[in-house]
Amino acid sequence: MDRGATIHAVTGSRSARLRGSAHQPPPVAFTNSGSHGARPRVAYFHDEQVANFHYGEKHPMKPHRLALTNHLVMGYGMYRHLDVYDTRRATAEELRDFHSEDYVEFLSRVTPENVTALTKTFGQFNIGDDCPVFAGIYDFSRRYAGASLEAARRLLSGDADIAVNWSGGLHHAKKAEASGFCYVNDIVLAILQMLRFHPRVVYIDCDVHHGDGVQEAFYSTDRVMTVSFHMYDGEFFPGTGRLEERGNGPGQRFTVNVPLRDGIEDAEYRTLFRTVMRSVMANFDPSAVVLQCGADSLGCDRLGRFNLSIAAHGECVRFMKSFGVPLLVLGGGGYTIRNVSRCWAYETGVLIDADLPNELPSTAYHEFFAPDYQLHPPLSGHIANQNTPASLRDLSRSVLEQLRSLQGAPSVQMSEIPPDLQGFLENSRSRNNGRGDDEEEVDVDGDDSSPQRPPRPHREEYYDHDGDHDDDEDM
Ligand SMILES: [Zn+2]
Repeated sequence: MDRGATIHAVTGSRSARLRGSAHQPPPVAFTNSGSHGARPRVAYFHDEQVANFHYGEKHPMKPHRLALTNHLVMGYGMYRHLDVYDTRRATAEELRDFHSEDYVEFLSRVTPENVTALTKTFGQFNIGDDCPVFAGIYDFSRRYAGASLEAARRLLSGDADIAVNWSGGLHHAKKAEASGFCYVNDIVLAILQMLRFHPRVVYIDCDVHHGDGVQEAFYSTDRVMTVSFHMYDGEFFPGTGRLEERGNGPGQRFTVNVPLRDGIEDAEYRTLFRTVMRSVMANFDPSAVVLQCGADSLGCDRLGRFNLSIAAHGECVRFMKSFGVPLLVLGGGGYTIRNVSRCWAYETGVLIDADLPNELPSTAYHEFFAPDYQLHPPLSGHIANQNTPASLRDLSRSVLEQLRSLQGAPSVQMSEIPPDLQGFLENSRSRNNGRGDDEEEVDVDGDDSSPQRPPRPHREEYYDHDGDHDDDEDM
């Protein structure tokens, strides 16, 4: 079977050019060799230009990680088994499906030269050290958002079972505010597209940071369940993501937070993820899944605090793929870029059922992967594990109780299609404003402090110059 034959003709030449050598990658071996039926059709969205933007020399967000990732994907020969698509920029109108008009206008006009004058006219929009204005900021934002929108549409059209955009997953951006290195929230935009046809979409966030922007956007609707696994101690950016943040109004109980402590290890994370997600899929029964694969939850991440290996991170992808529901896979955080690219290349392999050799293929960026040149470097054990069996058991129990309480909730059976996207989020909010929440409230853990809105205590603490855990990233 060679589904990708027509696309191969295009991408093969490009990948040879990208590799910068005549070296042919070895054939990809497969883990299931078709024994479980046809492999899924995987659409891969890559924009070569998106890797060429710079937040600034000292800034930890390096779009260059996307070039490294793509070179590994191509170097392993995975293009033969992916439907590789070119991307396009999102339009201003598409951005306004979620973002406010003045914020989009600001992004479209701001440059490093006029930022001082423009913020006086338009407002600050949380522009600063975390979210600097760099050359091409609007072009960059439109590119990664356009790729996520195209990926979502390819799923909706039925051309793909799985769609991947590693440049997406910028989960902190708010309606009218940049946050945590994110300017435009491509995830919210993609989910809004999916809601045109899907009655219920589940969003899963594996980034070490709480997926606050997506949670906030869908906090009051029962059509999107957001599930975030993240580091939480009240201080760590963005400071939200408590267990008790469970949604509001019609969205009450449809926000799920799994706050973890420093240093969680592979086995614990895998068990918790599978337990929670099995229950989410059974109780919420989504018809589409959006998975944010932030790679800052890997061990040794420059800003991260977990101990996950690439294999364990990839297990989340494998597990969500196993449900056979249309799956949108996005990138996210990740600041030790040699490991980010290894992780996303490995996860691309997971999606096509490839069994990738541990020895990395030779690419133009081979020296990034010194000294071991392996797909699975040891990443565990660098941060003391503050999670205890008891704390994880309690957390798991609380989350499962919340999910079980959805059984029989009328909203779970709801299958209303929104007439227009622009009005959808506003309608969700106004629906909520027009009703009391008390009868909706289910107090699953005795804590009655569920906020009416998700709290937003931290605006500018993500990029801590002194808090980096890795100092070798000035590339
Ligand atoms: Zn992150």
